[in-house]
Amino acid sequence: MVKNVTNIAFYGGVNEIGGNKLLLNDRDTKVFFDFGMSFGMKKLFYAPPFLSPKSAKSLQELGILPKLKGLYRFDENTPEVDAVFVSHGHLDHSAYLSFINRQIPVYCGETTQTILKSLGEMRRSDLEFDIEGIAFKSFRTGGKIRIGSLEVEPIHVDHSIPGAYGFVIHTSHGAVVYTGDFRVHGAKPQMTSDFVEAVKEARPTVVVTEATNMTGASVSSESEVETKLNSIAAQTQGIMLAEFAYADVDRLNSFYRVAKKNHRCLAVSLKQAYLINALRADEGLRVPDLNDDNILVFRKSKKRYDKWENSILQQYPDKIIDVFEASKQQCKVILALSFYDLEELVEIRPDAGSCYVLSASEPFNEEMEIDFEKLTNWLGHYGLPQYHVHVSGHVMPLQLRSMLMQVRSQKVFPVHTENSGLFAEFMRDLPGKIIIPEKQKEYEL
Ligand SMILES: [Zn+2]
Ligand SMILES: [Zn+2]
Repeated sequence: MVKNVTNIAFYGGVNEIGGNKLLLNDRDTKVFFDFGMSFGMKKLFYAPPFLSPKSAKSLQELGILPKLKGLYRFDENTPEVDAVFVSHGHLDHSAYLSFINRQIPVYCGETTQTILKSLGEMRRSDLEFDIEGIAFKSFRTGGKIRIGSLEVEPIHVDHSIPGAYGFVIHTSHGAVVYTGDFRVHGAKPQMTSDFVEAVKEARPTVVVTEATNMTGASVSSESEVETKLNSIAAQTQGIMLAEFAYADVDRLNSFYRVAKKNHRCLAVSLKQAYLINALRADEGLRVPDLNDDNILVFRKSKKRYDKWENSILQQYPDKIIDVFEASKQQCKVILALSFYDLEELVEIRPDAGSCYVLSASEPFNEEMEIDFEKLTNWLGHYGLPQYHVHVSGHVMPLQLRSMLMQVRSQKVFPVHTENSGLFAEFMRDLPGKIIIPEKQKEYEL
């Protein structure tokens, strides 16, 4: 007999930023929401590249990958999980799809699918990121997906990567809402308003919300970031170097407009170029054309280029700029230079009056970690002042509070935060009950 029980359990994203893995169990239907890599947990044990996980067994042994049956590709048993839904393409929500049994369908937005597939083509497959053979199924806002006894409604939200969604999930015991990562101060806040409206209408029993920004919150917006970048570009005499997340299309657009206004070209990395090329087909997105007069593609110096890199080099031969050209045209360029590209400075030799703009979060963005001491040493060596111009991909505390007040959920679970205690105190007068989740514990609805 099928038990008439609905519960949720948290296998990641508990007392940590990212690594979300939420399991919803309704009667005999089991669905995971997000299956991300836990950067924080990994850092406790590993120091890549020389100390890296060798197998899923190691990750399970250390509690980085949950020990569950009927879920993994290395598990001989038939799958017991009916589907995995991915909220967006950041690796802390999606990377561990790598381990999922290929018979289990993976649902995500069309844009997320493009981003993950591009990333799959760019990275050499490794243990922790391999999406080969995944049965992707895509959705858009307005769609309703039935999985067993559940009905899942994805609704777009504004986040620092395009194609991010929150979910309203209709269960046998009321609606469960999972916010994924979201904000209301990006380039498309209306998307988050649409989500909040749908959540209010659903009168949820449970809201699982991200609560990343409980400390170090700020009041800013993507348009303010653009204004600040513009003021820096207008004053810079030499080269303007910029670090920003490769999949942050809003930031890319901000840099592009700033470059154009200041009669410079934005030289994007090959990785950014490859993604821009893939995302151009997405009609819902505004992405600059690589053929645009104000866009160039920076070719890092190396001996051999991968297949995906060659595809861009061959398709856009007139748009390629290397270190020598960048060095000659410093006052005409904004160069996207990631932490891993600092070695290129040796040939660029920045002119006096050049600068470096860190336009990503501290201490890590959701894609890589920056070693600040080493960054400071490089910038010091070349006399480059460092500006920090950024706005978070995550909702601010007062805005989150106002949203939760309106939503009036019976239960609220904070995830994706290191400050759940602070969250619970700050929100203690919410109409519903705040529950700080414990990892792997089942909570009945
Ligand atoms: Zn995240
Ligand atoms: Zn994210």
